[in-house]
Amino acid sequence: MNWFRRFMMGRYGVDQLSFAMLLLSMALMMFTRGRLWPLAILGAALLGLAYFRMLSRNISARAQENGRFLRGWYRVKTAWNGFVDRATDKNHRYYRCPGCRQRLRVPRGRGRIVITCPKCRREFEKKT
Ligand SMILES: [Zn+2]
Repeated sequence: MNWFRRFMMGRYGVDQLSFAMLLLSMALMMFTRGRLWPLAILGAALLGLAYFRMLSRNISARAQENGRFLRGWYRVKTAWNGFVDRATDKNHRYYRCPGCRQRLRVPRGRGRIVITCPKCRREFEKKT
């Protein structure tokens, strides 16, 4: 393994972005059949790109890419978690204020109520 350590010296190595690319490329190459073959090509290209990033000597550029990826991933993850929380919340209903798009949570089962947006004071009627 010494030769490998020497080979990897000064190179970027694996990060979360490369790992995600490897997983995605494997999935694309393993599960695309028949007319979906262009996806398998895309998977192979992604694999090549992942290797390129791991062996790259431009460490700061690769670290920046990974940072962008992690920030985007975090946004997707929190948006998804919020969606799951709202979908499984049986005690409240969620609306968006028609004035300012603020998300509002109101208790369920109160019939028709007038909701006052706490942000812009706009009032609107909804069934809960
Ligand atoms: Zn509002």
